[in-house]
Amino acid sequence: MHGCLDCGKPLTKKKRDHLYKYDRGKPILLRGMTRLVCKCGYSEVEFPRIGPLHETIKQALSVLRVKREDLAFFFTPGDHGVQDGAWGVILRSSAA
Ligand SMILES: [Zn+2]
Repeated sequence: MHGCLDCGKPLTKKKRDHLYKYDRGKPILLRGMTRLVCKCGYSEVEFPRIGPLHETIKQALSVLRVKREDLAFFFTPGDHGVQDGAWGVILRSSAA
């Protein structure tokens, strides 16, 4: 993990839901994303496997008959961590 791009200090990892601006429409909810935060105010979000994320979003929006606001996407690491992990989608109403 690299340091802060603004001041070079170490970054702290936090788990946060993230509203992802996927396209020009309303943002997509990504659950439990890792946000890297610095004391100076700088922060960034880690996106594991952004290609598969876009595929999963595209498929969900075209197949599921629900509004995107009702969906939440989440990443599950595989046996080898991020590299073989997969994105999934759930209905927000069914998410605890
Ligand atoms: Zn900083």
